Amino acid sequence: METSSHRRLGLASALVAAHYLSFPVVGVAVCAASSWLFSGGATSPDLDNQAKYKALDKLLPDEWLGRGGPLGHRRLLHWWGLPALAVIGWQQAQPVVPVAVLWVLAGALIGWCAHLVADLVFGQGNGRVGLPRGVPLMPWWMHVGFGLKSGGALQKAVGQAAVGIAIWAALTLAPALSQYWAGPLLARFVAQSAAWGPFPG
Ligand SMILES: [Zn+2]
Repeated sequence: METSSHRRLGLASALVAAHYLSFPVVGVAVCAASSWLFSGGATSPDLDNQAKYKALDKLLPDEWLGRGGPLGHRRLLHWWGLPALAVIGWQQAQPVVPVAVLWVLAGALIGWCAHLVADLVFGQGNGRVGLPRGVPLMPWWMHVGFGLKSGGALQKAVGQAAVGIAIWAALTLAPALSQYWAGPLLARFVAQSAAWGPFPG
Protein backbone atom coordinates (compact mmCIF):
# COMPACT_ATOMS: atom_id res chain seq x y z
CA MET A 1 0.00 0.00 0.00
CA GLU A 2 1.17 3.52 -0.74
CA THR A 3 2.47 5.63 2.16
CA SER A 4 -0.23 8.31 1.79
CA SER A 5 -3.01 5.70 2.04
CA HIS A 6 -1.26 4.02 4.96
CA ARG A 7 -1.18 7.34 6.82
CA ARG A 8 -4.81 8.14 6.08
CA LEU A 9 -5.80 4.75 7.45
CA GLY A 10 -3.62 5.38 10.50
CA LEU A 11 -5.37 8.69 11.13
CA ALA A 12 -8.84 7.16 10.67
CA SER A 13 -7.98 4.22 12.96
CA ALA A 14 -6.86 6.51 15.78
CA LEU A 15 -9.98 8.66 15.52
CA VAL A 16 -12.23 5.59 15.51
CA ALA A 17 -10.26 4.15 18.45
CA ALA A 18 -10.71 7.47 20.27
CA HIS A 19 -14.39 6.57 20.61
CA TYR A 20 -13.30 3.81 22.97
CA LEU A 21 -10.43 5.63 24.73
CA SER A 22 -11.10 8.24 27.36
CA PHE A 23 -8.61 10.80 26.07
CA PRO A 24 -9.28 14.54 26.32
CA VAL A 25 -9.40 16.65 23.17
CA VAL A 26 -5.66 17.35 23.17
CA GLY A 27 -4.99 13.65 23.82
CA VAL A 28 -7.07 12.63 20.81
CA ALA A 29 -5.19 15.14 18.65
CA VAL A 30 -1.76 13.93 19.84
CA CYS A 31 -2.77 10.27 19.48
CA ALA A 32 -4.12 10.86 15.94
CA ALA A 33 -0.97 12.73 14.87
CA SER A 34 1.21 9.98 16.31
CA SER A 35 -0.83 7.29 14.55
CA TRP A 36 -0.53 9.19 11.27
CA LEU A 37 3.25 9.35 11.71
CA PHE A 38 3.80 5.73 12.70
CA SER A 39 1.48 4.21 10.07
CA GLY A 40 3.51 5.05 6.98
CA GLY A 41 6.99 5.62 5.60
CA ALA A 42 10.31 5.36 7.44
CA THR A 43 8.61 5.77 10.85
CA SER A 44 6.40 2.71 10.25
CA PRO A 45 7.06 -1.00 9.59
CA ASP A 46 8.14 0.20 6.13
CA LEU A 47 11.40 1.29 7.72
CA ASP A 48 12.49 -2.05 6.27
CA ASN A 49 11.87 -0.69 2.77
CA GLN A 50 14.24 2.29 3.11
CA ALA A 51 17.56 2.51 1.30
CA LYS A 52 19.67 2.69 4.50
CA TYR A 53 17.91 -0.30 6.03
CA LYS A 54 18.39 -2.28 2.82
CA ALA A 55 22.10 -1.37 2.78
CA LEU A 56 22.37 -2.62 6.37
CA ASP A 57 20.54 -5.81 5.40
CA LYS A 58 23.10 -6.39 2.64
CA LEU A 59 25.94 -5.95 5.15
CA LEU A 60 24.59 -8.15 7.95
CA PRO A 61 24.53 -11.93 7.57
CA ASP A 62 20.99 -12.26 8.98
CA GLU A 63 20.29 -14.94 6.35
CA TRP A 64 22.22 -17.31 8.64
CA LEU A 65 19.18 -17.34 10.90
CA GLY A 66 17.35 -19.15 8.13
CA ARG A 67 14.25 -18.60 6.01
CA GLY A 68 15.80 -15.57 4.34
CA GLY A 69 16.65 -13.79 7.60
CA PRO A 70 14.68 -11.31 9.73
CA LEU A 71 15.84 -8.22 7.81
CA GLY A 72 14.33 -7.33 4.46
CA HIS A 73 11.00 -5.86 3.40
CA ARG A 74 7.89 -7.23 5.10
CA ARG A 75 9.80 -9.53 7.41
CA LEU A 76 10.44 -9.09 11.16
CA LEU A 77 9.34 -5.44 11.26
CA HIS A 78 6.04 -6.46 9.68
CA TRP A 79 5.42 -9.25 12.22
CA TRP A 80 2.29 -8.84 14.37
CA GLY A 81 4.22 -10.28 17.34
CA LEU A 82 6.32 -7.12 17.81
CA PRO A 83 3.41 -4.83 18.80
CA ALA A 84 1.89 -7.72 20.79
CA LEU A 85 5.15 -8.19 22.73
CA ALA A 86 5.38 -4.43 23.27
CA VAL A 87 1.89 -4.39 24.83
CA ILE A 88 2.65 -7.43 27.03
CA GLY A 89 6.00 -5.94 28.09
CA TRP A 90 4.30 -2.65 28.94
CA GLN A 91 1.65 -4.40 31.03
CA GLN A 92 4.32 -6.36 32.89
CA ALA A 93 6.54 -3.36 33.59
CA GLN A 94 3.72 -0.85 34.19
CA PRO A 95 6.06 2.14 33.83
CA VAL A 96 4.91 5.48 35.18
CA VAL A 97 5.13 8.06 32.39
CA PRO A 98 3.60 11.49 31.71
CA VAL A 99 0.14 11.17 30.19
CA ALA A 100 1.34 12.85 26.98
CA VAL A 101 3.76 9.95 26.44
CA LEU A 102 0.80 7.57 26.75
CA TRP A 103 -1.05 9.45 24.01
CA VAL A 104 1.96 9.26 21.70
CA LEU A 105 2.52 5.55 22.40
CA ALA A 106 -1.16 4.70 21.96
CA GLY A 107 -1.07 6.47 18.59
CA ALA A 108 2.13 4.69 17.59
CA LEU A 109 0.60 1.30 18.43
CA ILE A 110 -2.62 2.05 16.53
CA GLY A 111 -0.74 3.39 13.49
CA TRP A 112 1.73 0.49 13.45
CA CYS A 113 -1.07 -2.10 13.66
CA ALA A 114 -3.16 -0.31 11.03
CA HIS A 115 -0.14 -0.59 8.72
CA LEU A 116 0.12 -4.35 9.29
CA VAL A 117 -3.60 -4.90 8.62
CA ALA A 118 -3.36 -2.83 5.41
CA ASP A 119 -0.34 -4.85 4.24
CA LEU A 120 -2.21 -8.07 5.00
CA VAL A 121 -4.70 -6.95 2.34
CA PHE A 122 -2.60 -4.83 -0.03
CA GLY A 123 0.89 -6.32 0.45
CA GLN A 124 1.71 -7.38 -3.09
CA GLY A 125 4.11 -10.23 -3.70
CA ASN A 126 7.16 -9.89 -5.91
CA GLY A 127 8.71 -13.19 -6.94
CA ARG A 128 11.63 -11.40 -8.61
CA VAL A 129 13.01 -10.25 -5.23
CA GLY A 130 11.61 -13.17 -3.23
CA LEU A 131 8.92 -11.08 -1.53
CA PRO A 132 5.83 -13.13 -0.65
CA ARG A 133 2.46 -11.43 -0.48
CA GLY A 134 1.06 -10.24 2.83
CA VAL A 135 2.77 -10.21 6.21
CA PRO A 136 4.55 -12.94 8.21
CA LEU A 137 2.56 -15.13 10.58
CA MET A 138 5.80 -16.38 12.14
CA PRO A 139 8.52 -13.81 13.03
CA TRP A 140 9.74 -13.45 9.43
CA TRP A 141 8.31 -16.35 7.49
CA MET A 142 5.03 -18.06 6.63
CA HIS A 143 3.46 -14.99 5.00
CA VAL A 144 -0.31 -14.66 4.76
CA GLY A 145 -2.24 -12.05 2.82
CA PHE A 146 -4.57 -11.26 -0.03
CA GLY A 147 -1.87 -9.60 -2.13
CA LEU A 148 -4.21 -7.03 -3.67
CA LYS A 149 -2.57 -4.49 -5.94
CA SER A 150 -0.69 -1.72 -4.14
CA GLY A 151 -1.38 1.57 -5.87
CA GLY A 152 -4.41 0.07 -7.64
CA ALA A 153 -7.90 1.58 -7.91
CA LEU A 154 -9.23 -0.35 -4.89
CA GLN A 155 -6.28 0.66 -2.73
CA LYS A 156 -6.74 4.30 -3.70
CA ALA A 157 -10.46 4.06 -2.97
CA VAL A 158 -9.70 2.67 0.50
CA GLY A 159 -7.30 5.57 1.07
CA GLN A 160 -10.00 8.06 0.06
CA ALA A 161 -12.62 6.34 2.20
CA ALA A 162 -10.26 6.59 5.17
CA VAL A 163 -10.41 10.38 4.93
CA GLY A 164 -14.21 10.27 5.10
CA ILE A 165 -14.09 7.86 8.04
CA ALA A 166 -11.58 10.09 9.83
CA ILE A 167 -13.83 13.15 9.44
CA TRP A 168 -16.92 11.20 10.47
CA ALA A 169 -15.11 9.74 13.49
CA ALA A 170 -13.86 13.18 14.55
CA LEU A 171 -17.29 14.79 14.23
CA THR A 172 -19.10 12.01 16.10
CA LEU A 173 -16.38 11.56 18.71
CA ALA A 174 -18.38 12.82 21.63
CA PRO A 175 -20.98 15.52 22.16
CA ALA A 176 -18.53 17.29 24.46
CA LEU A 177 -15.78 17.20 21.85
CA SER A 178 -17.96 18.41 18.97
CA GLN A 179 -19.27 21.22 21.16
CA TYR A 180 -15.73 22.10 22.07
CA TRP A 181 -14.92 23.30 18.59
CA ALA A 182 -17.76 22.82 16.08
CA GLY A 183 -20.33 24.40 18.41
CA PRO A 184 -18.64 27.75 19.11
CA LEU A 185 -17.35 27.92 15.52
CA LEU A 186 -20.84 27.42 14.13
CA ALA A 187 -22.33 29.92 16.58
CA ARG A 188 -19.76 32.53 15.60
CA PHE A 189 -20.40 31.88 11.89
CA VAL A 190 -24.15 32.27 12.34
CA ALA A 191 -23.69 35.46 14.39
CA GLN A 192 -21.34 36.96 11.81
CA SER A 193 -23.61 35.99 8.92
CA ALA A 194 -26.48 37.75 10.68
CA ALA A 195 -24.35 40.85 11.31
CA TRP A 196 -23.09 41.03 7.70
CA GLY A 197 -26.27 39.86 6.00
CA PRO A 198 -28.36 42.13 3.79
CA PHE A 199 -31.39 41.50 5.96
CA PRO A 200 -30.62 42.61 9.51
CA GLY A 201 -32.88 40.81 11.93
ZN1 LIG B 1 4.48 -2.25 4.92
